[in-house]
Amino acid sequence: MRVIAATKNAGKIREMTEILSPLGINIVSQSDAGIESDAEETGNTFEENALIKARSVAIQCDCAVLADDSGLCVESLGGAPGVRSARYAGEGASDEDRINKLLSQMKGQENRNAKFVTSAAFVYPDGREITASGEVCGTILDEPRGHNGFGYDPIFYCTELGKTFAEASEDEKNGVSHRGRAMKNLYKKLMTTED
Ligand code: IMP
Repeated sequence: MRVIAATKNAGKIREMTEILSPLGINIVSQSDAGIESDAEETGNTFEENALIKARSVAIQCDCAVLADDSGLCVESLGGAPGVRSARYAGEGASDEDRINKLLSQMKGQENRNAKFVTSAAFVYPDGREITASGEVCGTILDEPRGHNGFGYDPIFYCTELGKTFAEASEDEKNGVSHRGRAMKNLYKKLMTTED
């Protein structure tokens, strides 16, 4: 089955392909399918945003569409930055700006529990929708550590790995990541769904 991924991120497409190809799913990026739309992420949850992205591509084509939405949720900040993770420090801000804002919001805070969350949404051509999610838990450090990865990786200490995501290799991070877990959970649901 040909499935269009509602993303332009090559890393995400690689991971989606790796996990879903055993199901006979052939992932094609939206750019390769000639679809350039960027849906506005107006949802209040990761699941709503993943569905918004998937539906916006699905209405432009006649095949199945896969999308995901992720972010960092910090317990003491009531789940922020959450769905606003990319926009946390405003338009045009850098990863460093977002990290600095988060660290200043958490100054003196003892509860540093946090998790990365991903929701994945799969929309069939006939309109049926399947969603799945994945999480990875950790804590927010006082200062950045490591240079790998992207986004909030340098301040996210992953409990399972015993290091920050920015200190982990790509394989180590992919082995426990929220995105990989959401895709694997989606895989399980798709396996038991008729297409
Ligand atoms: P997206 O929905 O996957 O594009 O993620 C939205 C934002 O969440 C990104 O721009 C990052 O700021 C943050 N984020 C999501 N996943 C990760 C991750 O694996 N590491 C670090 N930051 C992430």
